[in-house]
Amino acid sequence: MSVLGSWLRATIEADKAVALATEQDPRDTIARCDAALAVLDEHGIVQVTGIGKDTRVMQIPACKTCGTKHGVPCRTLRLLARGYRHREGYDDEWSPE
Ligand SMILES: [Zn+2]
Repeated sequence: MSVLGSWLRATIEADKAVALATEQDPRDTIARCDAALAVLDEHGIVQVTGIGKDTRVMQIPACKTCGTKHGVPCRTLRLLARGYRHREGYDDEWSPE
C-alpha cells in the first residue's frame, strides 16, 4: 500500500470511529466511510510485468484496477484523497492535477 493509501485508510477509519462514538445516527457517515474504503481496496497496488527505464522487463507497481495508466497511487485514489485535503497529514504532492 502506498503512503497515500495508508494515510487515507487511517483517516477514514478514524472518521468511522468518531461517528460511532459521537453521532446519534451514524449510518450515513459509516456508509460513506465504508464506500470510500471499498474504493481504496479496489485500487490497491499490485506488481505487474512491465518495461523499466532501461528497457528491461521487470516487475513494476500498478493499480489493480487502473493498471499502469496513471501510475501509483492512481488518479482515483488521488481524487478520493482530495476530499480530505484539509486534514492533517495530507500531502499536496498527492494532488491529482
Ligand atoms: Zn486505480
